[in-house]
Amino acid sequence: MRDANEVQSWLFPVEPYEEESLSHFLGRFRRRNYLSPSALGDLAGIGGVVARWERFHLNPFPTDEQFQALAEVVGVDSISLRAMLPAKGTGMKCEPIRLCGACYGEVPCHRRSWQYKSVWKCDRHNLKLISKCPNCGAKFKIPALWEYGCCYRCRLLFAAIAEYQKSV
Ligand SMILES: [Zn+2]
Ligand SMILES: [Zn+2]
Repeated sequence: MRDANEVQSWLFPVEPYEEESLSHFLGRFRRRNYLSPSALGDLAGIGGVVARWERFHLNPFPTDEQFQALAEVVGVDSISLRAMLPAKGTGMKCEPIRLCGACYGEVPCHRRSWQYKSVWKCDRHNLKLISKCPNCGAKFKIPALWEYGCCYRCRLLFAAIAEYQKSV
């Protein structure tokens, strides 16, 4: 592993959003710094796990040491980084990727709770979460790839999806 301070000095920091999922944050950080998942894993000395975490493949669950190493490279404290994933034991779904368009319109990020098994609606807006594009039916890509904030196929803006969500 390279010296973390040395690595950080040439990386652009990215400020996490509140409740942002790890996948979404890592995607933003990597694009800002032109890094592939494996390049980020190499910098942190944690190998090939980044791509798996971006897909919410969390078995085996990341260790404290891995979080610490990654946190030093991305310039976020390890507690905040850890908070981008659910508490250990909280069931999480890798797919489908879900979202609340109304939330996205307020803060453009994928919230970690949208992938919790127990969650099917947005408590903030009382809207049912959407699990595929309501316009063209395409599944959403993993949040790490949400560069443009819209459906990759038909370009429907995620914020505009609020109009299609059923209220509960
Ligand atoms: Zn919402
Ligand atoms: Zn679409």
